[in-house]
Amino acid sequence: MNWTDPVEKIPYVGGVYAKRLGKLGVQSVRDLLYHFPFRYQDYTQTTKIRLLTAGADAAVRGKIIKIGSIRTKGGKFMTKAAVADESGAIEAVWFYQPYLTRTLKEGVGVGLAGKVENFGGKTSFVSPEVEVLKSGAVPSHTAGLVPIYPETANLSSKWLRTRIKGLLKSDLALDEFLPPAVIKRYDLPSLPEALKEIHFPQSAAAARQARYRFALEELLLFNLRSNTQRAAWEKRRTAYPLNPGDHQREIDVFIKNLPFRLTEAQKRATEEILADLGKNTPMNRLLQGDVGSGKTAVAAIAAYLSYLGGTRTIFMAPTEILADQHFQTLGMLLTPYGVKIAIQTGSKKPEPTDEFNLWIGTHALFYRSQSFEKVGLVIIDEQHRFGVEQRTELLQKSKSEVTPHLLTLTATPIPRTLALTVYGDLDLSVLDELPPGRKRIKTFVVPSRKRDAGYQWIRQKVELGEQAFVICPLIEESEVESMRQVKAATAQFEAISRLMPNVKVGLLHGKMKAQEKTGIMDSFKRGEIGVLVSTPVVEVGIDVPNATIMVIEAAERFGLASLHQLRGRVGRGSKDSYCFLFTNEESSAALERLKPLEGGRNGFELAELDLKLRGPGEIYGVRQHGLTELKVADLTDAHLLKTAREAAQDVFQENPRLDRYPSLKEELKRFSSALVEPN
Ligand code: ADP
Ligand code: MG
Repeated sequence: MNWTDPVEKIPYVGGVYAKRLGKLGVQSVRDLLYHFPFRYQDYTQTTKIRLLTAGADAAVRGKIIKIGSIRTKGGKFMTKAAVADESGAIEAVWFYQPYLTRTLKEGVGVGLAGKVENFGGKTSFVSPEVEVLKSGAVPSHTAGLVPIYPETANLSSKWLRTRIKGLLKSDLALDEFLPPAVIKRYDLPSLPEALKEIHFPQSAAAARQARYRFALEELLLFNLRSNTQRAAWEKRRTAYPLNPGDHQREIDVFIKNLPFRLTEAQKRATEEILADLGKNTPMNRLLQGDVGSGKTAVAAIAAYLSYLGGTRTIFMAPTEILADQHFQTLGMLLTPYGVKIAIQTGSKKPEPTDEFNLWIGTHALFYRSQSFEKVGLVIIDEQHRFGVEQRTELLQKSKSEVTPHLLTLTATPIPRTLALTVYGDLDLSVLDELPPGRKRIKTFVVPSRKRDAGYQWIRQKVELGEQAFVICPLIEESEVESMRQVKAATAQFEAISRLMPNVKVGLLHGKMKAQEKTGIMDSFKRGEIGVLVSTPVVEVGIDVPNATIMVIEAAERFGLASLHQLRGRVGRGSKDSYCFLFTNEESSAALERLKPLEGGRNGFELAELDLKLRGPGEIYGVRQHGLTELKVADLTDAHLLKTAREAAQDVFQENPRLDRYPSLKEELKRFSSALVEPN
């Protein structure tokens, strides 16, 4: 038998069990060995039978003194045994397990473990784990730290234990694939040792060490994958190095004439990006900055250099509305310098004959039949909306022998401790500063009993000419809207229309036609609509300076960082802005969790809190980059993350192609293909 063999090769695993294992994601021998327990039942102490009392969870050893099966009055098939040790005897009962009496006979030594209850007036074991004790063999189910596994229908921990123990005892070769230097430096148990200890630990400490090894192993592979991807990217060449030095004067003029002065963070990011653009290796950089930190201006400078260097820029927005907004903003900034800008979305097509320097668009851009000539720079806004495949496709469209520079913009803050791991394959620029003069958005967590009063206050404000967003409850975690979500938004829209008869209320959801959406958005921007009711996934990042109020319904369903991002749509003008987090829950825990938003924390700090409070699955980049697929590693463990990065760096620097470690290379291949990258 081999590590990579399918589970059917394992003795006693037939097609039926293979299918059940499949449900747990276990396909190969390796997968089964890596199906780790999530806890251990502590049966390290055996109890004297005389001392057992109802309510205990205990393990005993004894001899069967009597056993037999009967039908109970209720018609259940029941097996009943009396088991005794030197201190006393106890009864044990099982239901519908006729095969038990095949191995459990009078005089046989057994281990029993499980709940002790009062059964029919007697202190008894009810459906305990039971196993026949064999001299010289360590019991698997009724003594020591007994592993409890993620299970599925008709696949018990007991069955898994038996199969895994069998594998560990077989002659299956378990070759260490981590480089010896890593094992030594971090003092890790070897693979066979770690597998033994994670499944059947000698002690809690040994189990912890084994788990640490697998956590480090997992993150090491993740980092090696990033290193490999980065190295592959660095082999690419761009045919259009855009030397910023040749155009320094024009760029300086452009920056000087911007309607504002760049923040220090914007200056730094601009320098990093311009330096990248001058290289022969195409840029692959992520510009990360809180909502409103001014990523568009930085992107515009990059697009301007691309224009000056004689190449085209493609600017991808996740939605039509954002594409429209970028078209207007970038038009204002760049058209005076001669840049010709085209917009292409589902509903807008540029004149096919015109020559454009900057293409702005949505997905629709991908489906253009001709490829883009002479594309020097691709900018992708709000990267989490785009799948990796689409990104690759876009890069291919722009003529395969030439890789354009790639700049990705994201407002999704990711905890600093995680960023280097999650974005290990990219270079990172961070806008960690907001333009001056931004007022803090006054934020209130509002329990449901104060909700009506809240809406009355908002009504007054809106009747005086201010504008509000109302974000409906998030119904499911999905980037595509369901009809249920649309219905909820519509109901909300109707309720608010009734509540505010003198106010024009608008509705925006994902199932509306693009033109309709743009129409509503435009009339909101012009101030004709007072309250805009919207589903949560429709628009991130729109800029409406006169909107001063953000209402989020059922705020408890969102992560803090997402709420912060939604809130960022207001507070762009000079007036005071407000955010109301309405909750359906009165529980103080739910309200407490939202409290940090009332303080002045920035997106990074909130993301850090999300990581602690809700776990890594809630952090956007984490899921996008497949990190949620990791099974052992604790992503809140900053020290572990750092160690794994270092370890990967060492291995990679010493042997970038991993030729010296063929089995590690093999594992890396398996690991990489198992990471699904959702889009
Ligand atoms: P985001 O990073 O969320 O995409 P934008 O690029 O849309 O942010 O910028 C938000 C707003 O801030 C815009 O109205 C923009 O004109 C303005 N802005 C950008 N940079 C500065 C700056 N340095 N000083 C003042 N306002 C700025
Ligand atoms: Mg933006």
